[in-house]
Amino acid sequence: MLGEGILKGLGETARNFVGSYVSAERLTTIQYPEERIAPIEATRDFPFLVYDGADWEAGLRCVACQICEKECPPKCIYIVKSTDKKPDALGKLQIYPVRFDIDISVCMSCQICVEVCPFEAIKMDTQFELSTTDRFGGLLYDRKELAKSNEYYHSIHPIEAKKVDAHLAEEKMKADAKAGAAAAAAAAKAAAAPVVAKPAVPATPAAAPAGATQRAEGEKQG
Ligand code: SF4
Ligand code: SF4
Repeated sequence: MLGEGILKGLGETARNFVGSYVSAERLTTIQYPEERIAPIEATRDFPFLVYDGADWEAGLRCVACQICEKECPPKCIYIVKSTDKKPDALGKLQIYPVRFDIDISVCMSCQICVEVCPFEAIKMDTQFELSTTDRFGGLLYDRKELAKSNEYYHSIHPIEAKKVDAHLAEEKMKADAKAGAAAAAAAAKAAAAPVVAKPAVPATPAAAPAGATQRAEGEKQG
């Protein structure tokens, strides 16, 4: 019927309007900022960097592979790699970001950086009250401002963070098993290697005892 969709929409609006006087579930607006709705699991605003443990700098999961920097559509990520290495979340020596900036004023919250990261190092935050009078510097976040703990990640995306923890634990188990197998194979190879005999060293003539020399000299003189 012509206009059926419009009538349905008006009916729903009327149901919410009348219902809001008797049921809180029918309220579609709240008195923000005094009232707030808890963000749902899928809420996303801008990215942050996850770290494990108590030290944000040592615990950053990011290994500066720069995949997110390359894939970010508006190019608002800037990374500088380290020249040395430190252990990553799996205990493997890796390079790390000495600089990791995101220009939040340019970020469009697409989450591509999160999707492409192979190390579960970057996730989407739910913070949206980020207004500032400093249009440029105030919205350019460095790695310290971007770093947030895994506990924080669990608090905003509990279901997703649990899956990520399980995935990282599985990866660590695989890496440990691989390292153990490689060490066992190396040890077995070393044990099976033939022992190469050392060439015999020619015996040096034994020095004549001092008493014998003296006797010989005495016989010559006599
Ligand atoms: S969310 Fe999208 S735009 Fe923002 S930093 Fe990640 S890839 Fe770039
Ligand atoms: S956040 Fe992930 S994808 Fe981006 S540089 Fe770090 S490890 Fe690579």
